[in-house]
Amino acid sequence: MNSNDLLKRLAEDEIEYLWVVYHDYNGRACAKTVPKSKFDSVVQSGVVFARANLDFALNDHNPADGIWQAQTGDFLAVPDPNSYYKLPYRDSTAMILSFMMTEDYEPFEGCPRTALKTVVERYAEQVIDLTVAFEAEFSMFTKDATGEYAPTNHDGMFTVAGLNRYGDLMHSIVASLEQMGINVEQLGKEYGPSQYEFTVKYGTPMQAADQYLISKEVTRALALQHGVIASYMPKPFAELPGNGLHIHAALWNADSGDNLMSGGSTENPLSDMGEHFVGGLLNHAAGLAGVGAPTVNSYKRLQPGVWAPAHVAWGVGNRGVLVRIPDTNERCRVEYRAGDSTCNPYIYLTALLAAGLDGIHKQSDPGKPFNDLDVGHFSDADMAEHQVRYLPRTLPDALDAFEQDNVLQEALAPVIAMEFLKVKRFELDLYNLHVHPWERQMYLETT
Ligand code: GLU
Ligand code: MG
Repeated sequence: MNSNDLLKRLAEDEIEYLWVVYHDYNGRACAKTVPKSKFDSVVQSGVVFARANLDFALNDHNPADGIWQAQTGDFLAVPDPNSYYKLPYRDSTAMILSFMMTEDYEPFEGCPRTALKTVVERYAEQVIDLTVAFEAEFSMFTKDATGEYAPTNHDGMFTVAGLNRYGDLMHSIVASLEQMGINVEQLGKEYGPSQYEFTVKYGTPMQAADQYLISKEVTRALALQHGVIASYMPKPFAELPGNGLHIHAALWNADSGDNLMSGGSTENPLSDMGEHFVGGLLNHAAGLAGVGAPTVNSYKRLQPGVWAPAHVAWGVGNRGVLVRIPDTNERCRVEYRAGDSTCNPYIYLTALLAAGLDGIHKQSDPGKPFNDLDVGHFSDADMAEHQVRYLPRTLPDALDAFEQDNVLQEALAPVIAMEFLKVKRFELDLYNLHVHPWERQMYLETT
């Protein structure tokens, strides 16, 4: 679709309100609604937002050292006609994602979607097409009068009971997404209390990231209509399973359509290019944690032995490793399991694809696969024997690793990486200075 097609579509769909959306560096969807009388101008010229918005943390406060402040002007969120979604559950309303442009209509260097587009073009130069799919977990909660959250249900994993309990909600999510042109592969009850998971059919990297983000808004909106809170927080409770965001990615020959990752047989699952891609992901895994799992809470999820990877390892079919090869031959792809939904998926995917491409260029060796061993339960001795290292164990370590990773920094240069780090370190300082309830329980009467 181009902008004329979009205007036609808005008229056909009888849209009265267009929500023009961008995602900040926290992955938070931000928007303004635009009335019908302004569609012509907004479709061409975009909606104005302060650049400073990108230097804000989730509590709507900003670090003093951000390059974008009150006096540093605006960017324009220019609707991308390929990311138009009519909302089935809200009258006459559509959402559209955008590219950030400068006031002179040049691509804005702080735009995460532009960074993703650029890395995808680097693959295209090598005649490689990419397909990507996101697999997102979320949990549902109620909130009582005191502000305490509790899981909505304790139905068992993958049970009919769990689907049935929220059947109307789950069906309204699936039906809404389908009406919006988002092909849901499946939605099911995951293994944690009140935890569910949806997968959307693969697409281009941009489509996959867009559709994941839109699906997230749809689940949250429809859950609210059903009186519950759908949360993608990585580890809402220490004792309950975490919510991951797994990314599936495959490489294809852009001319022949052949799967470039496949080694052609189950015994030899990966091609050389596939191995190098995985090698790149493993080499950059520490830095990728900084962008894929970018909150203090993320590291409470990435613990040994809970199917959320704590170690840097790969393997075929093994859910205990960081890079899983879930399928072989024509469906050969990688599943990268460390990230969670506190990321900005454009930033995360840009970094992940840059890591894979670096592996291809450097012919990185991924080392031996762990197909049968439970890496998640490796002792220190096992780790030494198998030469397996940990992913970063804390957010500060992950952010430092990201800062020190030249390949990832370059993919997000000149400003996204730098400002992302400022926002995240500001958030980290807030956490470090806060006195948490646990501290009072532990120390108040014992000291
Ligand atoms: N909940 C796990 C995670 O946090 C993943 C479980 C699974 O689907 O394998 O990544
Ligand atoms: Mg899952």
